[in-house]
Amino acid sequence: MANKLMRLEGKVAVITGGASGIGEATARLFVEHGARVVIADIQDELALQVVSSIGTDNVCYRHCDVTDEKQVEETVAFAVQKYGTLNIMFSNAGILGSFGSLLEMDMAVFDRTIAVNTRGAASAVKHAARVMVAKKIRGSIICTASVESILAGTGPLPYVVSKHGILAVVKSAARELGQHGIRVNCISPHGIATPMVCKSVGADAASVEATVYRNANLKGVTLNTKHIAEAALFLASDESAYIIAQNLAVDGGLSSIMRPLN
Ligand code: NAD
Repeated sequence: MANKLMRLEGKVAVITGGASGIGEATARLFVEHGARVVIADIQDELALQVVSSIGTDNVCYRHCDVTDEKQVEETVAFAVQKYGTLNIMFSNAGILGSFGSLLEMDMAVFDRTIAVNTRGAASAVKHAARVMVAKKIRGSIICTASVESILAGTGPLPYVVSKHGILAVVKSAARELGQHGIRVNCISPHGIATPMVCKSVGADAASVEATVYRNANLKGVTLNTKHIAEAALFLASDESAYIIAQNLAVDGGLSSIMRPLN
C-alpha cells in the first residue's frame, strides 16, 4: 500500500521560480511527497545547486524565462517527455520591482512587472492547461499571488496591479478549466524574507521578518517559505479535490482582520 504521507505519489509538477525562496521550498517538499519535479527558472547555477542538493532523479532543471511564451511551452513539453505526464503547474516566478512614488513611476518597470508576474502566470496556466485538456488529466494549477492581490499598501504599484491580475487569471481559467476537471487556485502569502524581498527593500532577513511579524494578527509564528510550500502541497494534492478558484491567504490574518485603531 502506498505511504499515505506521500501525498503526491506518481504526480509530475513544473515549478516556475523554483531556484529560490518559495519555489525552492516547494520543489523540496513536492519531491519528499513522491512527485517528480521540473524546476523552471532563469538562475541556472542556483537551480542546478538546488537540484544536486535534493539529490534524486525525481527533480531536474530547465531554463525557462516565463516572459517568453515559447520557453514556457517547451518547458511543459520537456516535463511531459521526461516524466511522462503533467499533473501540477505551480506558477510562482515573480519579481517585486522597485519602490517609489507613483509620481515618478517608470512605465518600463510597470511593463516588466506585468510581463513576469501576470503574463508569465497566464502563459504557464495556458500551456499546462493545453496538455492537461489534451491528455484528459484532472490536474491542479496553482499560482503564487500575494496579499497584494487583495490589499494595496506595502508593494510598489506595478506589483499590486500584477498580483490583482493573477487573481483574474486564476478565476477566469478556473471557469473554463473546471469543465475539464482541472482545478486552478492561488496562494497569497504575506511577507517572507526571500532574496526577492530582501534585495528590493534593501533589508536583512531579520528586519523583514520583524516587520511582517509586527503587522500580522497571528502571533507566535514567523512566516517562512515552508508554510507556503505546505499550502501548495495541499492545493496540489487530492486532499483539495473540490477546491477551485480560491485565493488561499497565508498571511497571519493581515488581509481580513483590521488592526486596532489607536
Ligand atoms: P525569490 O526571489 O526567492 O524567488 C523568485 C524566483 O523567480 C527566483 O528564483 C527568480 O530567478 C525567478 N524568476 C524571476 N523572474 C523570472 C522569469 N522571468 N522567469 C523565470 N523565473 C523567474 O522570491 P520569492 O519570495 O520566493 O518569490 C516567489 C513568488 O512569491 C513571487 O511570485 C512573489 O511575488 C511571491 N510572493 C512573495 C512574497 C514574499 O514576501 N517573499 C510575498 C507574496 C508573494
